[in-house]
Amino acid sequence: MTAQLIDGKGIAGAKRLAMKATVEKLKSEGMVPGLAVILVGENPASQSYVKGKIRDCKEVGIYSELVRFPESVSEAELLDEIRKLNEKDSIHGILVQLPLPKQISERKVIQTISPAKDVDGFHPISLGKMMTGQDSFVPCTPAGIIEMLQAVNVQIAGKHVVIVGRSNIVGKPASLLFLNHNATVTICHSKTTPLAQYTKQADVLVVAVGHAGLISAEDIKPGAVVIDVGMNRNAAGRLVGDVEFEEAKEKASFITPVPGGVGPMTRVMLLENTLKAARNFFMEREPH
Ligand code: NDP
Repeated sequence: MTAQLIDGKGIAGAKRLAMKATVEKLKSEGMVPGLAVILVGENPASQSYVKGKIRDCKEVGIYSELVRFPESVSEAELLDEIRKLNEKDSIHGILVQLPLPKQISERKVIQTISPAKDVDGFHPISLGKMMTGQDSFVPCTPAGIIEMLQAVNVQIAGKHVVIVGRSNIVGKPASLLFLNHNATVTICHSKTTPLAQYTKQADVLVVAVGHAGLISAEDIKPGAVVIDVGMNRNAAGRLVGDVEFEEAKEKASFITPVPGGVGPMTRVMLLENTLKAARNFFMEREPH
């Protein structure tokens, strides 16, 4: 049996279309959602991600501002800009593209963003809220994974979800989010041994490592749902995930492709978080 592809690109496209209508309605009521994206330096990957984010905003009608700094910018200067954006009424979401140059503390940058504008969901307040099951901004990749599972009607409650990778932006928040959706969660990392012993038990296997070919068909339980977050360049320069896709798709029930799976979902969840931030902002301003 060949697995059903989870078409992240298609699901994200449909979400953007629906969002466009929502944004139009908000605008007709005088509410224009706004996102500020801060880009430091000339890193080609970062430039391309930022370009994509700005393009997505344009597509759905969200106002966006790109703030660029040279690689040499000081931490104080960057924090100052974030504080200004925190106070700016036309901006409801702030995203600082990571990674940042060495002289700047990512932790300080994230903590300076107002939690009300934390559309990346990396602020400790957002993460703490998620930890305690409160409404919060959820980091875009984990949020996108849940959305794509729901879009293909994969049940999460009661399932054993095994997550490979424990980064602050993917693995850890994904584990909390799945737990909040009543899954039983196992988290694996570079010291987990033997890794396959755990991955083979997964009803839903989420792989977020950044190591092409880490997971092969024999590491997967027959009929499992496989979510490949990894983004790697193979020898031919092609974008590939962490899972041996061709063999894994013959064993899984559902699988995400790379590219066209988790990536587009991550992008669209940023728009969703920006809309949420804008709605919160305008609701608070309404007279009670
Ligand atoms: P990090 O490098 O921050 O984390 C990688 C994690 O993988 C770590 O927890 C590490 O363990 C673990 N790991 C490393 N080697 C192994 C191994 N051999 N076996 C098991 N676990 C291992 O990466 P990110 O979370 O930022 O990203 C992971 C991948 O996802 C990357 O390819 C990235 O490009 C991609 N990505 C894709 C996105 C998308 O939208 N599609 C969004 C974000 C990331 P330890 O903690 O012990 O070091």
